[in-house]
Amino acid sequence: MPILQSFGPAAGTAPAHRPVPGAQEPGPAAAARRHGVLPMPSLEWNEQVARETAPLYARVAKVVPAVEWPFFAPYVKAINALKKERNAVILAHNYQTPEIYNCVADFVGDSLQLAREASKVDADIIVQCGVHFMAETSKILNPDKTVLIPDSRAGCSLAASITGADVRVLREKFPGVPVVAYVNTSAEVKAEVDICCTSSNALEVVESLGAERVIFLPDQYLASYVASLTKVKIIAWKGACEVHERFTADELRRYRDGDPALQIIAHPECPPDVLAEADYTGSTAGMIDWVRRNRPSRVIMVTECSMADNVQAELPDIEFVRPCNLCPHMKRITLPKILDSLVYLKEEVVIDPAIAARARRSVERMVNLRPS
Ligand code: SF4
Repeated sequence: MPILQSFGPAAGTAPAHRPVPGAQEPGPAAAARRHGVLPMPSLEWNEQVARETAPLYARVAKVVPAVEWPFFAPYVKAINALKKERNAVILAHNYQTPEIYNCVADFVGDSLQLAREASKVDADIIVQCGVHFMAETSKILNPDKTVLIPDSRAGCSLAASITGADVRVLREKFPGVPVVAYVNTSAEVKAEVDICCTSSNALEVVESLGAERVIFLPDQYLASYVASLTKVKIIAWKGACEVHERFTADELRRYRDGDPALQIIAHPECPPDVLAEADYTGSTAGMIDWVRRNRPSRVIMVTECSMADNVQAELPDIEFVRPCNLCPHMKRITLPKILDSLVYLKEEVVIDPAIAARARRSVERMVNLRPS
């Protein structure tokens, strides 16, 4: 058995997004007072907008139908202009929709890449197109910047599965055992742990601690994947991603039976029997790199559905088979809400400074980990 013990709620029992104790939700007023509200730009679709946005449409033409572009284009134009006016940057996760990922984002990537960009970004305002814990991570690393999330209800079933109090109980139960938290956790949880990790560096982080046993939270499947690769004994929390947990080994076998040459690449938040069917397992950034390097003719990316669209825009010759599982929280972020964020400075992410300082230590310890 790769996992030594596991604790926690059954997957899916926690609400998808739990408000962070200690964090304030001041609404748009505080940020708007600091930076000022701007007039809402024109959202008219006309020939000039079509001409100016044509190069951006060319990037997404394979995945965004032409009939939809007249709706997106005025927002894309307005957001790109407002970013300059506000000295703002947009960080977009790989699971954002193609018109966000390809047409308005300044930096794209997985949680680790976004955390690194957030730590060196030179802007007054960060707009985080992703879920709430990602925006919190940006705020933790950029306490003096205004961090906005276009919809603060964008939660995560993993982050919602565990609280800071749960971590304190685990520490009492296993005194002296170091605690690793996947970045898919609230600031309050990050404040209680020794170090954070992402799916890119989870193994490296666990082994960097030099401990015989490690508490790994909150994703039971990522914990199990790491446990299968290391001699370190893993004590896992029983959280799960509601998107990756839906994939089954049976459905992948059916796809493979229909095309034995099909390549299957999977995210380690999937259950172990799903990973057993995969030709490659890795983070979203790892999966994208794998496709770039190997150029398969047909591939399934066993992860959130939009990522295949985003990679398809870059690699139009590859056929992506899409067993489409969408993350409802990621999909709360839309172009109209991003525009509202930039105009009205909402919704600002605010974290209790004492919690943020302790959480920063855990995130920075991860970000500063030297590659082995
Ligand atoms: S895909 Fe899963 S882990 Fe990612 S934000 Fe959605 S619920 Fe959370």
